[in-house]
Amino acid sequence: MQGQFDENLLTFDRERIWHPYTSMRDPLPVYPVVSASGVRLTLADDSELIDGMSSWWAAIHGYNNTALNNAAKRQLDKMSHVMFGGLTHEPAILLAQKLLALAPPSLKKIFFSDSGSVAVEVAIKMAIQYWHAIDKPQKSKLLTIRSGYHGDTFGAMSVCDPVTGMHEIFTGVLPQHFFVPAPESRFDENLQESDVIPIAETLASHSHEIAAVILEPVVQGAGGMRIYSPDFLARVRDLCDQYDVLLIADEIATAFGRTGKMFACEHAGIKPDIMCVGKALTAGYMTLAATMTNQRVSDGISSGGSGVFMHGPTFMANPLACAVALESLELLTNSNWQENIARIEQQLKAQLEPCRSLAGVQDVRVLGAIGVVECKEDVDVGQIQKDFVKRGVWVRPFGKLVYIMPPYIISNNDLSHLTTTICDVLAQ
Ligand SMILES: *Cc1c(COP(=O)(O)O)cnc(C)c1O
Repeated sequence: MQGQFDENLLTFDRERIWHPYTSMRDPLPVYPVVSASGVRLTLADDSELIDGMSSWWAAIHGYNNTALNNAAKRQLDKMSHVMFGGLTHEPAILLAQKLLALAPPSLKKIFFSDSGSVAVEVAIKMAIQYWHAIDKPQKSKLLTIRSGYHGDTFGAMSVCDPVTGMHEIFTGVLPQHFFVPAPESRFDENLQESDVIPIAETLASHSHEIAAVILEPVVQGAGGMRIYSPDFLARVRDLCDQYDVLLIADEIATAFGRTGKMFACEHAGIKPDIMCVGKALTAGYMTLAATMTNQRVSDGISSGGSGVFMHGPTFMANPLACAVALESLELLTNSNWQENIARIEQQLKAQLEPCRSLAGVQDVRVLGAIGVVECKEDVDVGQIQKDFVKRGVWVRPFGKLVYIMPPYIISNNDLSHLTTTICDVLAQ
């Protein structure tokens, strides 16, 4: 497999470098990539893999995109980074203008940070600081739904699903928040009233101590790849209004067209008080995230206590990342992305559906450019990864879930190769 790749480097990697969620004693094999272009990753032995993951939702325009490369090069020749304390720059301003124009119109202010988890920390801080500033400091807890995933830092971990959210061992250390069951009603189903009762009851009895509801709108990502009814989201918005609790939409996985709308909130037409974006923001080029909020929250924070929002990462609004993000959003909004996502959705639905009849398969779900096959048992990631690579595709399952969210530029043929390979491999 690793023909031309220096064995010593791979040995060093295996012995010294942690990969995400891996053991240092018995790590699964990793595949050396030497380049990537379009939807293809090239491995060290010159084999090519069709990418089904977009590098975890990020590389929406594929790899090595000329326009994005040029945006990075142009900015690199001006400055790659300057501090954001006391200084500002055009890439940040133009990106903020573009993002706020695309986002639900209630969102007026933006805070840039360096990763999705930090954007979630910032959102949580905004909510808690808001209530503190307007003299309701007892409103400091969060309420969320099960099967969620919001990141790996401590604040974000505390609102991940306690079991599927991968942070079970930290339960005793984390702040305790309110969890209610995730909605059972699927995307195209009418909302069952039973989905709303637990969150309505929790808000009714605890809203005096709850700062915000936080959730992933419509599609729950790494906590279970669940796709639920937008009516649930609409009801949660109403309940938040009724009980005077803020609503945080974590759009880090769903933003920028992935679900068929620019933001998943649009499926329900709701206005979040705070919204996080990340992942696809720079189309997978750089690490960058943002938290947006409305006038109410920003006025509240600014009016009370110190009057300043208490956060400021070193690499805030990194100009290189902002320049690439701006170019990526231009590419997206100048394209027929709705039609394109609809094309991918239709094909995923048609071609993943046959998996449903396989003995080991529990469920198949598709929304936008997201396709999920849920198995009855956990899959053997090491083995299945090998089978996929042998057949020329890059798909990385976790738990019971084999799922893809390919770059939007994927051709029908390449997408067929992905879907038929998934069905074939799962049939074994
Ligand atoms: C990936 C993800 C995060 C965390 O983002 P990082 O960039 O990995 O820190 C948070 N929320 C959601 C919904 C995500 O999918």
